[in-house]
Amino acid sequence: MTQKIMNRRTMLGVAGLVSGGLLLDGGAAHGLAGLARRPAAPDQAWAELREGNRRWAADAAIHPRQDLARRAEVSRRQEPYAVVVSCIDSRVAPELVFDAGLGDLLGVRSAAQTLDPLVSGAVEYGPVELGTPLIVVLGHQRCGAVTAAAHALHEDTALPGDLQRIVEALRPAYKSARGDVDKMIRINTVQAVARLKAGKLLAPRIARGRLKIVGAYYSLDTGQITRLV
Ligand SMILES: [Zn+2]
Repeated sequence: MTQKIMNRRTMLGVAGLVSGGLLLDGGAAHGLAGLARRPAAPDQAWAELREGNRRWAADAAIHPRQDLARRAEVSRRQEPYAVVVSCIDSRVAPELVFDAGLGDLLGVRSAAQTLDPLVSGAVEYGPVELGTPLIVVLGHQRCGAVTAAAHALHEDTALPGDLQRIVEALRPAYKSARGDVDKMIRINTVQAVARLKAGKLLAPRIARGRLKIVGAYYSLDTGQITRLV
């Protein structure tokens, strides 16, 4: 009972801080990064992600903005500073590999980060509706989807069901990479960046300097992310 009251008081306290604007104004001073702190420019957003990945790769993650105060802060609105378009792979979780917090990233995931109109629409949501300044397309080492697609294309066999759609989406990268799977992963990532950049909704935002689209590669061996484009 006492514990329940304590929890309730703690929660009310947090709600009071948020409604009073203290977390937004003085959050940084208390080590609680608020919404006001969101990187507004594309290069700032990339620097934040790069720094987070540096911590992750060095086994020095700080898991920022993942506490009760942050949950309360973002419960009614969100201002994520990046869209991460990445593979479904269980080892490439965006908030972990970029050491980011709740409300920081919009995550769009598909096998080998392949694009179709539904996926592209989800990617566009951030910049168009929320003013998100950065999109990162993240490929990764030893991608199972790319490896399986390369094998199917090499053997000229079809995968069952909708899996074949993934293979077809990767065909252009396969042709350019001439059978080299790691090269195919990188080419597929760069091609996805080019395709998104050409999008009707995104191209004008890029031209005005309000948005950047970065292609990057995650190493399973080192945990490091390298920029490709
Ligand atoms: Zn993958």
